[in-house]
Amino acid sequence: MQKYIVKSANQITDTTLLLNLEQKPGKAPFLYRPGQYAAISFYHKGRPTPARCFSIVSSPTDQGKLQFGMRTKGHFTKSAAKLKPGDLVKVRGPYGGFVLDIADSDDVVFLAGGIGVTPFMSMVSYATSTKSSTKITMFYSCQTQDDVPFLDELRADEQQNPNLKVIYVIGGGVTDKLAGLSVASGHLSLDIINAALNNNYDNRTFYVCGPPPYMNAMAKSLRQKGVGKNSIITEAFAQGSHPQTGKVQSWPYNIYVLGAASLVLGSLAVTISDMIKTLPPQSLLNSANLSPTLTSSNSRQRDLDNLVNSLPPLASSAPSTAAVQASDQAAQNDAAASATAAAAAAAASASATKVVSTPVVVRAPVAVPAPKTCTTTQSGVTTCV
Ligand SMILES: Cc1cc2nc3c(=O)[nH]c(=O)nc-3n(C[C@H](O)[C@H](O)[C@H](O)COP(=O)(O)OP(=O)(O)OC[C@H]3O[C@@H](n4cnc5c(N)ncnc54)[C@H](O)[C@@H]3O)c2cc1C
Repeated sequence: MQKYIVKSANQITDTTLLLNLEQKPGKAPFLYRPGQYAAISFYHKGRPTPARCFSIVSSPTDQGKLQFGMRTKGHFTKSAAKLKPGDLVKVRGPYGGFVLDIADSDDVVFLAGGIGVTPFMSMVSYATSTKSSTKITMFYSCQTQDDVPFLDELRADEQQNPNLKVIYVIGGGVTDKLAGLSVASGHLSLDIINAALNNNYDNRTFYVCGPPPYMNAMAKSLRQKGVGKNSIITEAFAQGSHPQTGKVQSWPYNIYVLGAASLVLGSLAVTISDMIKTLPPQSLLNSANLSPTLTSSNSRQRDLDNLVNSLPPLASSAPSTAAVQASDQAAQNDAAASATAAAAAAAASASATKVVSTPVVVRAPVAVPAPKTCTTTQSGVTTCV
């Protein structure tokens, strides 16, 4: 939710209010796509109003500014008409999938009935300001020529955007104020649409927004012309009987899905690669199991042999045969333990793909005590030295 400051709230036709809002300085940008809506609420006579949904009229390229066009008929919209510059309005959103994806649409047809023009204003102005190559044909139905909100804006967009064509369909009365523009009289019919589209309904996406009877009639006509369900996208201004259809899921949604999929695949690849690295090479496995020369070719064993060979002869103290045997046995045990450790080290070094040098334990020579000389006195006391 963000709070916006009212810049102006003006009637642009007898029945339509344009609410112009400005973002408070230093706030995060309000990101939305052309055609989406927001829920707004404010304080009226010191009390908070309920929130109501309105399509955003301004283009996402106009950052810092938000516009809403309201048909003033009930309590909420009449209260909105009383907003003054500087008042605060709470804005929640954006919401909705009734959006124009210019990257994905070559040829689109907009069918706008009355105040249902609001989401199309954002789409048209976005396509114009981004110099999009998307071809837009817009049928805009209004009751009279005095009840055409956003006429000046559409006229300016049409002049700037060579890919935009607007056909004004005026229900009744004179149309002299629309001189120079493409105008049809009466209700929007298949004849009017056929003429503007050269009876070609293929490879086009149709967007429809307006009062429920208008939307029903348009959907029926398009189906008659063989337009598939997926090529008709609708936005209903009421909850209930006309839910939004044909939600467009384009780049933000696809990016999330692709991002998640690549994350899963990446983790899988790293795990498999780690598992492969921990397997010892086949040659080492074979030599560890089969080769009797493995222990003697091991560097640790060589170190041990060198150490034993470099020991001075035990001349000063003559060990007993049993002590020498014990010492030899200990040395053999050490050698065996070293050989076992060496084999393990070889396997470990193979898995870690680097040689780890194990510190050599130096065992001190076993000291054999010299025989003692004992003397016994006449009184029977024995002393040994
Ligand atoms: C997605 C969406 C986009 C819309 N965009 C626009 C727009 O751009 N311009 C515009 O003029 N209108 C738009 N509307 C319609 C708008 O929200 C309501 O028509 C508006 O709030 C009615 O205000 P009010 O002053 O006429 O009546 P309120 O004083 O608000 O209410 C009059 C009566 O209508 C009921 N009511 C009001 N709103 C709704 C609702 N949405 N669903 C069911 N009952 C309701 C109330 O409960 C009450 O009984 C949009 C609606 C939706 C759902």
